[in-house]
Amino acid sequence: MSAAAPPAAGGKPCPICGKPMVEKYRPFCSARCADLDLHRWLTGAYAIPVTENDDEDGEEPSLAPKPPRED
Ligand SMILES: [Zn+2]
Repeated sequence: MSAAAPPAAGGKPCPICGKPMVEKYRPFCSARCADLDLHRWLTGAYAIPVTENDDEDGEEPSLAPKPPRED
C-alpha cells in the first residue's frame, strides 16, 4: 500500500532499512532490523490513545464507568 520503492527481485526490501530481505529474518534483512521493528511496534502500541467512545449498540447510557482493564 505504501510502497516507497519497487520490490527487489525475488523479495521485498527490508521495511526498516530497505536492504534486500534475508529469508532467515524475513521480512527483514537482519535480526537487528527485526528487533528494531519490534521495538517500534511496542512503543507505537503504547503510544496509541485509548478510545473512550465505544459506539456499540447505544442501548446502555454510560451510567457507570467501565472497570479498567486488568493486565
Ligand atoms: Zn534492514
